[in-house]
Amino acid sequence: MSNDFNALLAKVASHLAERDAALSTLPVTPGAEAVAAAVDALPPALPQAGLGTGATLDYLLSSVLPGCLTAQNGPRYFGFVTGGVTPAAQLADILGSGYDENVQVTLGDTSAATTVEARTLEMVLDLLEIPRETYAGRTITTGATASNILGLACAREALYAASPYTYGDYSYAASGPPPGLPTPPIVVLGLHPHWSIKKAAALVGLGNGPSVFHSLPADADDELAPDLSALRGRLVAERAIGRGVIVTYGLGEVNTGGFGRGLPQIAALCRQYGAWLHVDAAFGGFAGAVPELRHLVEGIDLADSLTLDGHKWLNVPYDCGLFFTRDARALPSFLGPSASNTPAYLAADDAAIPSPLTMNIENSRRFRALPLFASLLSLGKDGYADIVRRNVAFARRVATYLASHPSYQLLNMSPEWLASGAPVPLNIVLFRGAPGSRFDPESADAHTRLTAAINATRRMYVSGSQWGGKGAVRLAVSNWRTGDEDWEIVRAVLDEVTA
Ligand SMILES: *Cc1c(COP(=O)(O)O)cnc(C)c1O
Repeated sequence: MSNDFNALLAKVASHLAERDAALSTLPVTPGAEAVAAAVDALPPALPQAGLGTGATLDYLLSSVLPGCLTAQNGPRYFGFVTGGVTPAAQLADILGSGYDENVQVTLGDTSAATTVEARTLEMVLDLLEIPRETYAGRTITTGATASNILGLACAREALYAASPYTYGDYSYAASGPPPGLPTPPIVVLGLHPHWSIKKAAALVGLGNGPSVFHSLPADADDELAPDLSALRGRLVAERAIGRGVIVTYGLGEVNTGGFGRGLPQIAALCRQYGAWLHVDAAFGGFAGAVPELRHLVEGIDLADSLTLDGHKWLNVPYDCGLFFTRDARALPSFLGPSASNTPAYLAADDAAIPSPLTMNIENSRRFRALPLFASLLSLGKDGYADIVRRNVAFARRVATYLASHPSYQLLNMSPEWLASGAPVPLNIVLFRGAPGSRFDPESADAHTRLTAAINATRRMYVSGSQWGGKGAVRLAVSNWRTGDEDWEIVRAVLDEVTA
């Protein structure tokens, strides 16, 4: 049995090593026939007698994985915002699965795992040069969506407690909606919030329809910045009727990679009028890892709650997100057990490192910190700054090429390109076919056809998107492997499909 396991483990290791060496040349996607073959090869039902480990592993390697995304963590998968996996993260993830520790409770002299998690979260703040004491409440989640859920839940608790219609330390989590509040009791103001914020609002009981979510008008000279006087007007009016306000701010807009100006002023207004500021910096926050880009995230330390993603630009395996809030007690106040029913295993909870189950959606959870810890340690600040820098340089190269290409139109061109030298804000290139080209935007499905034509080459992968009410193609660069050799391939594909 154990000899078998050793041999099979070696087989997995050599498969991963071969794949790793081939990632730059593998087709990015498997192709429709391979997907269909994998689906056809699925067992119709649970077999009565199991196949055994060896036969199962052979079946996965020969029949299932060839029909799944062959190189999503390779250097030319530019869809969504998809990170790769650094070598240290990949190895640590394999170890973490092998140890299979359930990291939910701090057991001071039994396991160091929650201390590893706590140090990992501190190291992420170090990377972005955010003072650790700024965000005393921190936890590792399954992704930015889970972090947004925690952010809106913290906001809900704080706003109900501060409402003129409640008294004491009212908790919505404990008591549900109090009577007498305006309808709706809390509104969410923002500009282009990521869809996951609406999902979060639905889950935490705020609602996510048009009576709850209000789009702020954009600043006249900055389509990504809310108009400050409109925001102030709303904050004054809502305060007058005792309605709670959450302001969400996307630090790094997901279609354009752009940053609106004015986060520090927005934070000051929120503080003045008692609104909760939730900043979703899932990928854009990591501009803060690079000294010459850090100005883009000015104000990242002023949020009441902050979302970052681990599995995007930090290049650790799915799933990993990060959540920060100012007050260490904010999450445990509604996610932890009450004093009267604290189980014995939490009675001795070390205040310095609260048990993750009092800070999170999950109780049982994997040792998600280990790959991130390993990756941060292996690369250091310099290594991560280098990934962000190289990815941004790659996006700029693509954008510069498209901007002067007769068949393309660059849609997220920086207005201050000439002054700043940066054709696009960060690591995303948003484009479409030029008028008169094969993918003339006059035709409603042009961007879908262009996306399909690029992806059909299987040499690179991009996402279809919408911006300003029109179809677009989006190329996001966030993989540590993407390098100069990939540029030649990208250029060839972009030329070929429009020829
Ligand atoms: C990707 C993204 C999300 C959702 O993140 P998941 O990790 O997929 O849950 C939320 N907000 C922004 C700005 C994003 O880019």
